[in-house]
Amino acid sequence: MTARVLVVDDLEPNVKLLEAKLRAEYFDVLGAYSGKEAIERAKADQPDIILLDVMMPGMDGFEACRIIKSTPETAHIPVVMVTALDQQADRVAGLKAGADDFLTKPVEDVALFARVRSLTRLKMMTDELRMRYATGKSMGVVTELAEQPDDEKARIFLIDDQEDHAERIRSLLCEKHDVSVEIEPDVALTRAKSGDFDLFIVNMSIEKLDPLRLCSTIRSYEETRLTPILAVVRQGDTRKLVRALDIGVNDYLSRPVDRNELVARVATQLRRKYYVDQLRSSFEASLEMAVTDQLTGLYNRRYLASHLTGMFDRAYWTGRPLSLMILDIDHFKSINDTHGHDIGDKVIQAIAERIKISIRGIDLACRYGGEEFLVAMPDTDREFASVVAERLRQQVASEKVTLNAGRDEVCVTVSIGISSTEDGLKDDTAQRLIKRADEALYEAKNNGRNRVMQGAAA
Ligand code: GH3
Ligand code: MG
Ligand code: MG
Repeated sequence: MTARVLVVDDLEPNVKLLEAKLRAEYFDVLGAYSGKEAIERAKADQPDIILLDVMMPGMDGFEACRIIKSTPETAHIPVVMVTALDQQADRVAGLKAGADDFLTKPVEDVALFARVRSLTRLKMMTDELRMRYATGKSMGVVTELAEQPDDEKARIFLIDDQEDHAERIRSLLCEKHDVSVEIEPDVALTRAKSGDFDLFIVNMSIEKLDPLRLCSTIRSYEETRLTPILAVVRQGDTRKLVRALDIGVNDYLSRPVDRNELVARVATQLRRKYYVDQLRSSFEASLEMAVTDQLTGLYNRRYLASHLTGMFDRAYWTGRPLSLMILDIDHFKSINDTHGHDIGDKVIQAIAERIKISIRGIDLACRYGGEEFLVAMPDTDREFASVVAERLRQQVASEKVTLNAGRDEVCVTVSIGISSTEDGLKDDTAQRLIKRADEALYEAKNNGRNRVMQGAAA
């Protein structure tokens, strides 16, 4: 995996040194020599990660980090502070400015590469979502992302077999969050999977099982694949830390755990999780909008066109029949003329609801035209399709559509045409299946409406 790294330091030799180390590992490196230049290059060159010196004349690293993290075009880029003074207060100040991690000068190679790899990998996961979001936004199909509410309680799961240590961490976080503790690592996985947690904190010194395996298993489960993991590592245990970062742990703390640093790192992970969740749900909502008919909530014709082919192929391969019904409201024009277009819309919605109730989960119902619907029923032969259609026809005809809290009633009937893959020839296609149902519908209309007709064999 390669990535573009922006190295920022007011002293040229420092930039050159980090540049040489990173180039040797095939990273693509850019340099900047002041906070101001860093902000400009971050915007213009969109690096995958920024290594930012803390002490620089003019604008220092903290200030530059704050600006990078509050500028929409650069807020998603991970920032690692490179600092000569490793004071706890500086770390906390950095985290508060939005920094993702720290490296101490002189920078140790292993720690450097592990950090850059892990942070750029995490960034790439969200880049895809950010891109989809940007596309959706330019198409006008997604809304602004919501700000993270201040008072939201996160659900944190702490896995630690040393009770006193676990209790200390819990007590530091429980005021703001909902913290569950598990001291038995063997049951931790089951709880992790079913708990819908926002963050895992794992003590990397647990003894009953391999904590690295525990983390990698959390990463592999569908339910927890994207939930951040914060590892608690014994001070100086670089080897374990590097392994942990490589298997997908998001961030770490050294023991003994500093209160402010814990709070700040937890906040960073929760902020990121919230952002990613928002991106994902916005994308899912926009996908849903693209395939859904707005008036009825059924699938739209565009979705049907691509999905029906798959259903048809599946029927062909499995040798199980696929049946269709096309349903059209009778004399709908006169419903519009008598009651108005708005009432017409409500009638369409009411019929859509009745269709939804009468079909199974595996059936695909779509609004096929203005007052026309299509239902595709896998694993359904023509006889059974007729039964379903006839039941629906009767239900519509026998129960008037009531509107405006019962003040208006409209009599509605529907005509339905049915077709089945059982009636197709060898060269049958999804298009022909639709055509046969359409012809049957036409027959039903010609024969007086309010009836179900089966398509003739092809
Ligand atoms: P038939 O029994 O032969 O189907 O008669 P019909 O009047 O239902 O048939 P036709 O297809 O001629 O007319 C359908 C009408 O549905 C025409 C159109 O104005 C109306 N329509 C189409 N889409 C909508 C819609 O979204 N809302 C409303 N209110 N009316 C619609
Ligand atoms: Mg009609
Ligand atoms: Mg029509």
